[in-house]
Amino acid sequence: MKAASCKVLRFAEAWFSSQSRQTSHAGAAADAASGGTDGGPRARAAATFAASLKIEDVRRTYGDATALNGVSLDVAPGEIVCLLGPSGCGKTTMLRVVSGIERPSSGRVLINGSEVAGPNRYVPPEDRSIGLMFQDFALFPHLNILDNVAFGLRSLAPDVREKSARAILDRVGLAGFADAYPSTLSGGQQQRVALARAIVPRPAVMLMDEPFSGLDIQLRDAMQEETLALLRETRATSLIVTHNPEEAMRLGDRIVVMNRGRIVQQGTTETLYRNPASLFVARLFSEINEIPVRVQGGRVATAAATFAAPGLQDGQAAVLCLRERSIEITPASANGSDKLKGRITDIKFLGDVTRVDIAVEGFEQIVKARVAEAGGLQKGSEIKVSLPPEAGLVFPAD
Ligand code: ATP
Repeated sequence: MKAASCKVLRFAEAWFSSQSRQTSHAGAAADAASGGTDGGPRARAAATFAASLKIEDVRRTYGDATALNGVSLDVAPGEIVCLLGPSGCGKTTMLRVVSGIERPSSGRVLINGSEVAGPNRYVPPEDRSIGLMFQDFALFPHLNILDNVAFGLRSLAPDVREKSARAILDRVGLAGFADAYPSTLSGGQQQRVALARAIVPRPAVMLMDEPFSGLDIQLRDAMQEETLALLRETRATSLIVTHNPEEAMRLGDRIVVMNRGRIVQQGTTETLYRNPASLFVARLFSEINEIPVRVQGGRVATAAATFAAPGLQDGQAAVLCLRERSIEITPASANGSDKLKGRITDIKFLGDVTRVDIAVEGFEQIVKARVAEAGGLQKGSEIKVSLPPEAGLVFPAD
């Protein structure tokens, strides 16, 4: 596990100092009082009263720097939205503004239709019913696991607090680790503790800042599944920050792509994959060949296929994106006017797929393809290549 960055620790510190002022945790109290979450092994977590979240034209500036530049977003009750974008695009600032740790420079934030930040109103973090889970987990090293989880429940009576904390530890499979300290736990166990700590007060809105980035790949899959199951059970409306497109596709009911402080596109995984609105989004969701071209008659022509270039002018410089996975390879003997001659210049087995680099007639640059079956193909093999319509997208040159 890498150490938490200064940025994360500052965020965590600001958050937990705000939470220490918290006065009530109605959901957890009700659970504990009724024994509602104290089931058998891996009991279900109790559901939250799902809330809507609305972000309205929010700007956040720091001196001359603009971290958020007019962001608007509606999240439905119980929906899981992933914020995806490169470093510095404003993802964490968005979480900070929603949580109440930062105030927007302008614009509004509403939870369940009620303004929590805006020109005339500011509701402090502890009164927003928000849960936060940090990158690298930010567990308190000097507290045992039970006390870490119970930290956000300090306003409850000790017996109720302990009962709630033990119940959620049970739910995440860590009932036997209550007395252990964070440093003795594996990365996956620490992730579960952080998740339990964030969810136990039953927040209406869960904010997660790169919650899986500290885990190795083997653990990540399992933890993503478990987290998703817990979020669904509790019905928390969730915003999850990631810069991993695959993670966003796996977790999000919807993905919101950000760049330079703005939302550049949002939609389901399928929409973003099939109809990216820009080269920037296309690059996130598939491996592509980028071929400089000129538009003629509203389209881009190659020797084997033409691709529509909607909205682009004649003669305009554009980029033809050919998805590596959609390019088809056939034997050199295959006939058809849609097929181009090619010669393999390199081939790499990558597990599920094989990447094939091809010198294709009519193309100045090497074209890369990813194929599931590459039996018999090798460097130097003569082949034919076809480019089905779904293989190509045309965008204005950057
Ligand atoms: P990463 O993926 O690297 O965490 P991010 O998308 O979360 O990045 P933010 O941390 O929200 O990006 O930062 C957005 C921009 O705002 C960056 O240019 C950053 O330098 C700037 N910024 C954020 N917080 C501050 C601050 N407290 N003071 C000055 N600039 C800031």
